[in-house]
Amino acid sequence: MTKLVIGHFYPDLLNLYGDRGNVLALIRRAQKRGIDVEVKQISVGDPLRSDDIDIGFIGGGQDSEQNIMNDDLVHVKGDTIKSMIEDNIVFLTICGGYQMLGKYYQEHDGNRLECLGAIDYYTEGKKERFINDTVYELELDDGRKVAVVGFENHSGRTYLGEGVKPFMKVIKGHGNNGEDGFEGMRYKNTFGTYSHGSFLPKNPEVTDLLIELACKRKYGEDFVLPEAESLDETKAREAALNYIENGKEQMI
Ligand code: GLN
Repeated sequence: MTKLVIGHFYPDLLNLYGDRGNVLALIRRAQKRGIDVEVKQISVGDPLRSDDIDIGFIGGGQDSEQNIMNDDLVHVKGDTIKSMIEDNIVFLTICGGYQMLGKYYQEHDGNRLECLGAIDYYTEGKKERFINDTVYELELDDGRKVAVVGFENHSGRTYLGEGVKPFMKVIKGHGNNGEDGFEGMRYKNTFGTYSHGSFLPKNPEVTDLLIELACKRKYGEDFVLPEAESLDETKAREAALNYIENGKEQMI
């Protein structure tokens, strides 16, 4: 039987704006293909082995919560998570969770949090927050370009180092830093984005990309994810696009 284990990191601390919705979307679209899913909640003090999970999820948190889990992430689980990233385990990290895999996060008041440093980027906070409904363009591995909708709320500006690719292009919103026109990052099978909780529920191509990458890693490069309908997800995205472009709510 095909089975994926999702590790939801720090669900009690990093849980802003319905980020758990991303885990629910992964479960739902995997189950549509008959893939069995188990979710492990992994928080401060919980053990972690590098073969425990196939997909890791780290949501967003406020600065205070990032300060609480930072020690466990960096000093307790850090080496294991770094080796998982290098070993192509799939990770989706959102906002605060995304920031924490980089080198450091400097809050706007100057307080500097040394982060995991698993991937070459850093984040500096500014007083003005970026709060927006967002639209991005994602180029999939097969060359197709899709519109991706999201919601961002962050003070941090993230700057990618050499060799770390942006995840998407900004069409509307601020993305990583409001300057370079890019949003998020991809390194191996690890993704970071500033898009919160309804990211995967409204963007089924991204959900399927993560599921397929995890299955290829576990079951071999020949694994092909079967097609699945995405009527609800597509309607939700169209409603969001309509609202963003025309300012009109649409019942779905
Ligand atoms: N505290 C971080 C920031 O403001 C992340 C916030 C979040 O996860 N929404 O940039």
